[in-house]
Amino acid sequence: MDFGPASSTPATAATALASDLAEMVVLALDIGGTQIRAAAILPDGTRLGRCAAPTPLAEGAEAIYRVCAGLLRGVADDLPAEVRRRVAAIGISSMGPVDPWRGLVLDPPNVRALHDAPLADEMEARLGLPAFLDRDTNVAALAESWLGAARGCRDFLYVTVSTGLGGAVVHHGCLMLGPDGTAGELGHVTLMMDGGPRCGCGGSGHLEGISAGAGLATQAQDEVARGGSAFLRARADLAPLTARDVAEGEVAGDRACGMLMERARQAFAVACVGWVNAFNPVLIVVGGTLAERQGERWLGTARAAVESSAFRAPAARVRIVPAQLGDDVGLVGAWPLVAQRRGDPTWREKRPGHSPGKDPGSQGASADGAVPAARTD
Ligand SMILES: [Zn+2]
Repeated sequence: MDFGPASSTPATAATALASDLAEMVVLALDIGGTQIRAAAILPDGTRLGRCAAPTPLAEGAEAIYRVCAGLLRGVADDLPAEVRRRVAAIGISSMGPVDPWRGLVLDPPNVRALHDAPLADEMEARLGLPAFLDRDTNVAALAESWLGAARGCRDFLYVTVSTGLGGAVVHHGCLMLGPDGTAGELGHVTLMMDGGPRCGCGGSGHLEGISAGAGLATQAQDEVARGGSAFLRARADLAPLTARDVAEGEVAGDRACGMLMERARQAFAVACVGWVNAFNPVLIVVGGTLAERQGERWLGTARAAVESSAFRAPAARVRIVPAQLGDDVGLVGAWPLVAQRRGDPTWREKRPGHSPGKDPGSQGASADGAVPAARTD
């Protein structure tokens, strides 16, 4: 993807924008179900002032906004003055689904506090900077495209396999969003039509429920309930079961664990075949802790299935590769998110306070270069 104007014609405006981007510093916010993280991202991808706090899920939206704003303010306050005056905007990676135009978190499963939450507007009001928001997997795809495994690639899929299984589709250098902003949810394709493991979204038989961490943990509990695994029985006596127990059970030779992990890998592999046929991607970039721990075992199963079962031409082209940016992917992606959207009124038209011709997305830092004074909570 092209995040800067380097390939544009040398018009004055483009040149001005180029020097603007070369200077631009973004405050990054990455909000997940257990943790909220923040940092400042420099134009070369350097992260400054990384910090984190638990997500106060039980305390409601206002408490969550307060933690987010507090972290961002702390990051900004600790920046050297020369860096701080270049802070132009906030980029937010949020659990999905989201409405990226209105800057809303819509209805994340299990997080009632953030249903229809105007997270971007809240951060704008509290920090005095324009804020742009998208789903965590979309922001991660931008990050991998900018500095990670998909550098220079204009047609790729990003998939993350951890507690859940999320995705993003990049086509011709652009995120595929759909009219509601929810396109690219690759984990919620149905692979088992008659029941199948429950999914985090409330459905059943979805890829996420079969292959991702929460689904594997549930399947492990079911296995213990039916007396199918001595290994998991012993683990369940010590602590709630996780996907890690299932993976370690497979390595230890437990048959039930081996079958669950093999089914998880095969389901992911079958889904990859479908994605390759449907999207013709050059790359499938695979991140997330579960896939990372499984390594080649996970990716190799997918490659073999694509090679044997997908359409010949796209199967010959696609490469299935590990993601490169690890835990920081949601922070790093804030920079290209802002670089693509700042100054483009499309991303603000649906905000309540937007008026045509006045785009706070293009204002950046205040005239004296400082981060505008923040509201105190
Ligand atoms: Zn689902």
